[in-house]
Amino acid sequence: MERRKFLQSIGASVMGISLFNSSFAGNLTASAAATGRVIVVGGGMAGTTVAKYLRFWGGAGIDVTLVEPNATYISNIFSNMVLTGERTLSQLSFNYLTLKSKYGVKVQNYSVTGIDPAGKKVKLSNGTSLPYDRLVLAPGIDFESLPMSGTAANKAKIVHAWKAGTQTTSLQNQIKAMTKSDTFLITIPPAPYRCPPGPYERACVVADYLKRTKGGGKVIILDANPKILAEPVNFSNAFNNTHKGIITYVSNAQINSINADTMTVVTTAGTFTGKVINAIPNHKAGNLITTSGIGLANSTDGKWAAVDVLSYESTNRALAGIHIIGDSSSTTQPKAGHIANAEAKVCAEAIIQILSGGTIDQMPVTNSSCFTPITNTTASWLTAIYRYDPATKTMVPAGDGVVESKGANSENQEDMLKWFKNLMADTFS
Ligand SMILES: Cc1cc2nc3c(=O)[nH]c(=O)nc-3n(C[C@H](O)[C@H](O)[C@H](O)COP(=O)(O)OP(=O)(O)OC[C@H]3O[C@@H](n4cnc5c(N)ncnc54)[C@H](O)[C@@H]3O)c2cc1C
Repeated sequence: MERRKFLQSIGASVMGISLFNSSFAGNLTASAAATGRVIVVGGGMAGTTVAKYLRFWGGAGIDVTLVEPNATYISNIFSNMVLTGERTLSQLSFNYLTLKSKYGVKVQNYSVTGIDPAGKKVKLSNGTSLPYDRLVLAPGIDFESLPMSGTAANKAKIVHAWKAGTQTTSLQNQIKAMTKSDTFLITIPPAPYRCPPGPYERACVVADYLKRTKGGGKVIILDANPKILAEPVNFSNAFNNTHKGIITYVSNAQINSINADTMTVVTTAGTFTGKVINAIPNHKAGNLITTSGIGLANSTDGKWAAVDVLSYESTNRALAGIHIIGDSSSTTQPKAGHIANAEAKVCAEAIIQILSGGTIDQMPVTNSSCFTPITNTTASWLTAIYRYDPATKTMVPAGDGVVESKGANSENQEDMLKWFKNLMADTFS
């Protein structure tokens, strides 16, 4: 019963992802009048999806260019399993070839270094400029600096591995070198941060790995937040039962300082020493948002881009025509890859309507799901459907709200593999 309910709730966007696409495609390819030039910045979960769907739904009249410095995107989703050797980074790597060949998206492998909202153009790292009618920014996240002391060599060992890549490999090697007498410290920044269940998931898979391959070890979670922020029942059970004796969860542990020479973290909840420190710094929107100097970072804390969730256009009126999607935006939805994919579709549809003189959907629906490996054979999940609330002009959880699975099991793990395959196919192919 529980599984059926879950599949129903996520059916619109994961297991039945093609249904979701084709129902829109039928309506939107009819708007053949959509014409214009759209620049998309950032080829991650949000940017790649919006570039694809602008062409898929909007047709050949929309000239879409994706600007992304890297030829390959490495998925953060499943990267915790690289730390334990169950996945490789190459298995999590995706490229933009289908986006070009099948959908006709132009791809420029550069960074955007500046935005001119009045002149409607962006500047690229190769010195050229690209004009736009609509600009979509999806540069993900960047980090605030950590209060860290020590030699440069020791400081370099303390990584976040919160953007999959070389830091993931560094952390993997450090975990591999641990013995059963060693301690793994993971720090969690204050919300909002990318992937609310992600740090708890990482603690679980590392604990499972240490138990299976080293015969034991310790994992201490230093959470700056007052409580577990995602799947509280499942993670409490994992910490207190499944990984009992290995995981210790400490709340209200904000980092005061880190000494990389003594491998010590001083927090508001005490001082802790570990063999490996996985320090995840405080988050902010991608640097392009916070340093562009044009008023994009207009959330109340000045770290994120506030948007109108009907179109994801900036709420800064001076930035008409600039949309921000994915982790960089400030909304009531979580910062996650699945919801980034959903936001991108709402944004694509809105831009197609704008470019064809149509009407923007006034009741958008998005969906978020996260699967969490708890051990190497079991997983749990959480999911929510968000609907637009005209009174607050925000996306609010519909129905049962944010729902978590009743425990972790192997059936969820099978669904997790299907979910990932479908989500990445919907984004990159
Ligand atoms: C360990 C971990 C596990 C996770 N697990 C899940 C999960 O199970 N489910 C889930 O839904 N989410 C998960 N996430 C979260 C998910 O990865 C992010 O929320 C998602 O990638 C956000 O998409 P995005 O497009 O906003 O950013 P990204 O995917 O990070 O893409 C941003 C892109 O912008 C590019 N860029 C940045 N600046 C510029 C610039 N100036 N010019 C051009 N390009 C630029 C970057 O190169 C990058 O390719 C996880 C994250 C982590 C760290």
